Amino acid sequence: MHKNRICITKQMKIKFSTLLITLILLIPKCVDAFYFKDIPIFLKLYENDTLSEKNNIPIIKYDNGKSAFPAAYVYDNIWSTTKPNPYPKSITYNDSILKITLISDSSQFSLPGEGRITSPYGWRDGKFHEGIDLDIYHGLPVHALFPGVVRMSKSFGGYGRLVIIRHDNGLETFYAHLGTIKVKAGQRINAGDIIGTCGNSGTSRGTHLHLEIRFKGESINPAHLISIEDHSLKYKTILLRKNDGHYFVYHEDALLYKIKRGDYLHKIANEFGTTVRKIRETNDIPKNGILRAGQYLSICL
Ligand SMILES: [Zn+2]
Repeated sequence: MHKNRICITKQMKIKFSTLLITLILLIPKCVDAFYFKDIPIFLKLYENDTLSEKNNIPIIKYDNGKSAFPAAYVYDNIWSTTKPNPYPKSITYNDSILKITLISDSSQFSLPGEGRITSPYGWRDGKFHEGIDLDIYHGLPVHALFPGVVRMSKSFGGYGRLVIIRHDNGLETFYAHLGTIKVKAGQRINAGDIIGTCGNSGTSRGTHLHLEIRFKGESINPAHLISIEDHSLKYKTILLRKNDGHYFVYHEDALLYKIKRGDYLHKIANEFGTTVRKIRETNDIPKNGILRAGQYLSICL
């Protein structure tokens, strides 16, 4: 279960009903005003629609021209060659929805290597797996996803031999358990450049590549950005929404649905003509229905 999500159980519903009745008896007018105006909202996010303007979705500003580091503006000019996550939580405080252009004519994409996903992003054995594991043969090259500058290039704890790249698009990628490292901190690289070879260093049971994609230190599910099976990047432009300490990826054509109390996945799926499985996959919801009122679900139709 996700650490910050609450499972809506029957018991909680009963408790909630009791609380609601108590409140109604005590302050009926306030309850009316509060609950019945808290209706779900359906947001369709387009680049130039009025909603984007109203919500003032910030578009990531890239290199400010005054720093050698990509996306320095986004990271408050913080740059570390020794710490994987040197960022204070405060740099994420004002984020709600951010728009990121992942690739452009001068900024392309490459897969890190050929190999199926052997371990997905999310909870695993009571620990949160912040990336995906790719089954790549020992000694095969590992490639940078996007252009950027190497921020860190050294052994670090359980990561083993680790390369971290700050990309021009504002994302950071981590390549862990490498056998060899071929780049140095501060080195400028392009998408597809070889940054090392796949190995088994650090806390690793067998050769594989552990790949993380992060934004301001918070992890993003790589499977929401790239399709390993199709060897492709899923979207040219994405919206990132901060959600319980992680950033969720939304496609611009996705609907955002705000969960209300009493919602369950079958009901939402029926409402939108989609499937529970699809909603779970898009939003990283494990089995047994874990929803929290007020959170957003991305609904891809
Ligand atoms: Zn892993």
